[in-house]
Amino acid sequence: MERILNLIGGELRQATGGAWLDNHDPATAAVYALIPDSDEHDVRIATEAAQAALPAWRSLGREGRSNAMLKLAELIERDLERFALAESRDNGKPVHLARKVDIPRAVSNLRFFATAILHFGTEAHVMDDVAVNYTERQPIGVVGCISPWNLPLYLFTWKIAPALAAGNTVVAKPSEVTPMTAFLLSRLCGEAGIPPGVLNIVHGLGPKVGAAITAHPSITAISFTGGTRTGAEIARVAAPLFKKLSLELGGKNPVLVFADCDFDDMLSTTVRSSFTNQGQICLCGSRILIERSIYDRFKEAFVKRVKALRVGDPADPGSDLGAVVSEAHMQKVLGHIAQARAEGGTVLCGGERVRLEGRLKDGWYIAPTVIEGLGPACATNQEEIFGPVVSLQPFENETHALQLANDSSYGLAGVVWTSDVKRAHRVARALRTGIVWVNCWMVRDLRTPFGGMKQSGVGREGGEEALRFFTEAKNICIRL
Ligand code: NDP
Repeated sequence: MERILNLIGGELRQATGGAWLDNHDPATAAVYALIPDSDEHDVRIATEAAQAALPAWRSLGREGRSNAMLKLAELIERDLERFALAESRDNGKPVHLARKVDIPRAVSNLRFFATAILHFGTEAHVMDDVAVNYTERQPIGVVGCISPWNLPLYLFTWKIAPALAAGNTVVAKPSEVTPMTAFLLSRLCGEAGIPPGVLNIVHGLGPKVGAAITAHPSITAISFTGGTRTGAEIARVAAPLFKKLSLELGGKNPVLVFADCDFDDMLSTTVRSSFTNQGQICLCGSRILIERSIYDRFKEAFVKRVKALRVGDPADPGSDLGAVVSEAHMQKVLGHIAQARAEGGTVLCGGERVRLEGRLKDGWYIAPTVIEGLGPACATNQEEIFGPVVSLQPFENETHALQLANDSSYGLAGVVWTSDVKRAHRVARALRTGIVWVNCWMVRDLRTPFGGMKQSGVGREGGEEALRFFTEAKNICIRL
């Protein structure tokens, strides 16, 4: 059985305590690898390695750091097929999705920040004849990056790339549920010319490894993506230590469908925005709000398309949906569906576990599920489900649509479907979300700010926002 190892000070090693955790294949439920069950001690030595590596990494300069990161991107691209197969097996996602989205996007993240740092400028403020101010943006030092299981390598690189490019060294923790591709990446760091200790990857449980990273006094910034409850716990621990914090948290994203939209385009994209990656993307639209005049037409066409989606072996190119990530997560999602029924909702399709055959018989599969008949206040329309489950609600007019859309403690992303350009601007401006897509979904330019309002997070990632987060601004004022 394969053993995943930590990367600390340039060496691949097991947890100091020698304990291991099981790593499951969601498609079959079988244990197929072991993960180091690391603890505070491993985080401590990783942090020491990261501190020791700071001078060497900084002295490489922007260009040297950029070259090493570009090389790492090239090596991942060279091994794309191996990474895609590993991501699919570890997470349960269809391999075609990992091949087309997850791994190429991880490569893009590294390339984007490796080149962005070459163009990252700072400001100067001239006070007529009095003085000139210029702002230096210095690396912070050792930073912590904690990432979730839904887009494992994609979100892991989204954090470590800007952190490294800016001249920091990193102690990172991938989700214990999906550690494999971060491990594959750690095996390429030496070949890419990333000096020992610059990137340290400590595997293990959130409450042990993640909590130790959050609490370590020498780790002065934490970039976290994950659930809102975990984000609150991290903020509670990090705030009195005055750490810089970037929190990308949960969502309950509304999709607003106006009667004047391009119906076919909207329909195909809404099937994708509902069920890509088994609905386990923080940007998936889980509350679909439809103008009443087209509600029945939408419902009929949408349910027909959803029923035609194939839930199957993640390795099969014909599968639209694979397995959800873990048994615990499957039970959580099924619990939400049971709650929707108890609240009086009607399940229009799906609503249950799917049992496949042969070696897949114990895998964690859920049929894509569409629910209607529930008001905005019920748990189904308020709580994040993070699985292949969406609800439909009709609205009467634009004001009502916005009222429903903004009736949420979350504020990550919103999608608007309309052909009326004035309405598109009005609605986009009024939505209380950090990201709005009009007549599209998941179109991503890595230069744009990425993040949520309300309980969906604090701060923004992407482009210069990320480079600013991973640097300390220092103003230097010189009398003229
Ligand atoms: P979790 O919050 O459970 O975990 C995220 C990461 O934090 C994991 O690495 C986890 O480790 C770790 N962790 C858990 N407890 C602690 C702790 N006490 N201190 C420090 N770290 C800890 O989220 P999930 O992995 O379940 O991911 C799903 C969530 O992520 C959803 O809510 C989703 O909306 C959100 N998300 C948000 C995105 C955004 O950009 N806003 C993007 C993608 C997902 P371990 O896995 O070992 O428990």
